Amino acid sequence: MNEEIISVKNISKRFGAVQALDNVDLVINKGEIHCLVGENGSGKSTLIKIISGVESPDSGDISINGKLYKKLNAIDSMREGIQVIYQDLALFPNLSVGENISLNQRIEKKEKFINWREVRDIAEKELKSIGKAINPDDLVEDLSVANRQIVAICRALTHEAKLIIMDEPTTALTKNEVENLFKIILDLKAQGISVLFISHKLSEVFIISDKIAILRDGKKVGDFKAEELDNEKLVFYMTGKKLVATKFKCEIKQDSGKPLLELKNFTKKGNFLDINLKLYSGEILGIIGLLGSGRSELATAIFGLNKPDSGELFIDGEKVVIDNPGEAIEYGICYLPEDRLSEGLFIEKEIEENLSVIILKNYIKSGLIQRKKLRTDIEKLSKDLNIKTPSLELPVQSLSGGNQQKVVVAKWIAANPKIFILDGPTVGIDVGSKSDIHQIIRNLANKGIGIIIISDEIPEALQNSNRILVMRHGRIVKELESDCITEEELNKIVIESIPKQPEKVSI
Ligand code: ADP
Ligand code: MG
Repeated sequence: MNEEIISVKNISKRFGAVQALDNVDLVINKGEIHCLVGENGSGKSTLIKIISGVESPDSGDISINGKLYKKLNAIDSMREGIQVIYQDLALFPNLSVGENISLNQRIEKKEKFINWREVRDIAEKELKSIGKAINPDDLVEDLSVANRQIVAICRALTHEAKLIIMDEPTTALTKNEVENLFKIILDLKAQGISVLFISHKLSEVFIISDKIAILRDGKKVGDFKAEELDNEKLVFYMTGKKLVATKFKCEIKQDSGKPLLELKNFTKKGNFLDINLKLYSGEILGIIGLLGSGRSELATAIFGLNKPDSGELFIDGEKVVIDNPGEAIEYGICYLPEDRLSEGLFIEKEIEENLSVIILKNYIKSGLIQRKKLRTDIEKLSKDLNIKTPSLELPVQSLSGGNQQKVVVAKWIAANPKIFILDGPTVGIDVGSKSDIHQIIRNLANKGIGIIIISDEIPEALQNSNRILVMRHGRIVKELESDCITEEELNKIVIESIPKQPEKVSI
């Protein structure tokens, strides 16, 4: 018989205008490996926070080990054996492996004296129990990401975990390390410990899971046994769309013209090195690479926010020097930053005001603002981009993340760019807005704008570009035609660029 560890029923949670979770049920049994999948913004992290007592649901029931909790807090959740390993692992890098594994537990037990021998012994025992030979005296900062994860798992085990939840644990792992982690997860299962595992790498989901729960836009689409699904079905349930993988096709011939943008030996110490690239009218150039590979630094350098040490920049074949964003905009370059909320928007101000900021000066005639024309053009813009709001007079913060992002994009489109650089344009936004934004970007390219899109999602980069550059440690290590490579191959190129040990950008 199945023994229930946790059961949540009819869980709903709203943040402002966003219904993050809508009547979600989930049951996890003892010794079960459960995978939670869903696109960015579908509610996975929110569900985990609710199970771990970090967030309270607006409504719904939570039962753990047969006990119904009206109001679950983080301490109850831990006491019931639920342990969450977040992506940042929450370890203390300057403490030893042993201290990281067992110190917490000693402190929680309110022991007056710390017995260091015991701290070390407990750590050794847990490491042994999952078959890992890591020296408890090593400092965590000297470990690889994979080994740090093992330390976090051991720490969870010292709390007598019954359910270990891992939020996207494989993001920064190499193929071998992923296999290793999966062995550990199977081992935990054999010990009767349940694992809830979040991923959006579809290939992994099938290897490891007993059950797969799928979220879409805050609703649970269903629970499936791994063998009931295949890639195509999973994508369909996640997105609600039969993905006829429409690929961006660059429609503008490039043989003749000069590039819109060209970089020659563009270099900034510690950021990027010897970058040579050309961007043509009508192109979407994807730049992928790991965090810290220098992509965002390169983008901000083109936009005049990060002065390069050497190298040349050409616009329409003319050599130019861009010292600040104002000059970049004069040359027709626009830049959508990675963190739209801190850099791109005045969040408490009206949507209309945000949209006007950049174009306002085009609407001033002999010192007077042509209000009516401005208003008409802004209304048209917001309609074209499908910004969902009852009124443009509402503050931007009343919009969903995806619609906020459309406001930022709209703002820049209104400035008539020739070159548009977008850094992570769809991070954390809802599925519907995500495909709207992809379409907006493609339409811009078809009008002749040259686009650079920086993305962490390989499928996004692959489908929405005609050319891809892979960056590693500040250099471009590969240039590929999107038509000539598959997602798996590209994934491999990026994964291969992960260093075995954490290391600094070495230029
Ligand atoms: P996932 O982990 O699947 O990417 P999340 O649970 O993080 O999704 O988010 C679901 C939705 O709720 C998103 O639209 C997100 O923007 C929103 N959201 C999550 N946490 C908050 C918060 N603290 N405040 C406002 N909105 C939030
Ligand atoms: Mg998340």
